[in-house]
Amino acid sequence: MIEEAELKSYLSTSGAFLEGHFRLSSGLHSPNYVQCAQALKNPVWAGKMGAALAAAWKGPGPDLILSPAMGGLIIGHEVARAFGVDFIFTERENSVMTLRRGFSLPKGARLLIVEDVITTGKSTLETSASAAAAGAETVGALSVINRMGEKTLPFPFISLLKLDLTAYRPENCPLCRDGVPVLKPGSRIFA
Ligand SMILES: [Zn+2]
Repeated sequence: MIEEAELKSYLSTSGAFLEGHFRLSSGLHSPNYVQCAQALKNPVWAGKMGAALAAAWKGPGPDLILSPAMGGLIIGHEVARAFGVDFIFTERENSVMTLRRGFSLPKGARLLIVEDVITTGKSTLETSASAAAAGAETVGALSVINRMGEKTLPFPFISLLKLDLTAYRPENCPLCRDGVPVLKPGSRIFA
């Protein structure tokens, strides 16, 4: 269990949640930027967040944890540790979410999909579709941060923190209007 205030404070101090003026990969401008890898670089915190997600899940116990690489790797592994089950991951191959490296899913296995941040839900749905193709069932999804807004997923979804971040088209950006310099995608935090 992690208090929301404690988690928010850690996201800021770890550099996972930044305030300023950022150009996002979508081209939109935002006063905030989230890079969850910064929060997961600390193994103690990664373990704590994985345990908190596993404890928050009230549905059927998973047989396996499945995450899309890269974002889901560390947190998925920590959630799997908390449940005492295996962790495997999908990767994009020719832009299709695929199980590689000899990973396979037992037919009928119940899966939880775990990610660091879920924004559009696209990678979660693609990962679930690849599992379904192998005969496995996605019973739910877990993420550290939920940026889905009003969007939903076709299975239960639990996150540690819901963030509603503002983003503006550059021509409507109040920070641009105020002449605040924008951090460009070339800067190191976007890598
Ligand atoms: Zn701007």
